[in-house]
Amino acid sequence: MLQKKDGYKMNTINKKMSGIITVKNISIESTEKCNCGSWLNHWNNFNNKPPVFCSEIRCTHMFHLFGAHVQKVEDDENWYIIPLCEKHGRSDEELVINNFVKFIPADINKTCG
Ligand SMILES: [Zn+2]
Ligand SMILES: [Zn+2]
Repeated sequence: MLQKKDGYKMNTINKKMSGIITVKNISIESTEKCNCGSWLNHWNNFNNKPPVFCSEIRCTHMFHLFGAHVQKVEDDENWYIIPLCEKHGRSDEELVINNFVKFIPADINKTCG
């Protein structure tokens, strides 16, 4: 019995260690604008590199990316900007994100404000 419980716990920890990040879109059409011109520029400015692909782990869309507002599913109340394609940016489902994608805070007071 104890062993079974420990095994379950280890799986959860392994998942966290492997850096899998799941996010949800924040379905607000934000009217708030930051000083960067667009939310994609906002992401660019703090990432040093322009986005190559949509951040969803299996998505290879390179065009029509935009800076989407997302929230991490686990243990994090903050809002972030990541580049997503139009399809994933409008999805209601939880999205699995490539672990090399940098999450840029959407809070302009902490970034460009
Ligand atoms: Zn900005
Ligand atoms: Zn995509």
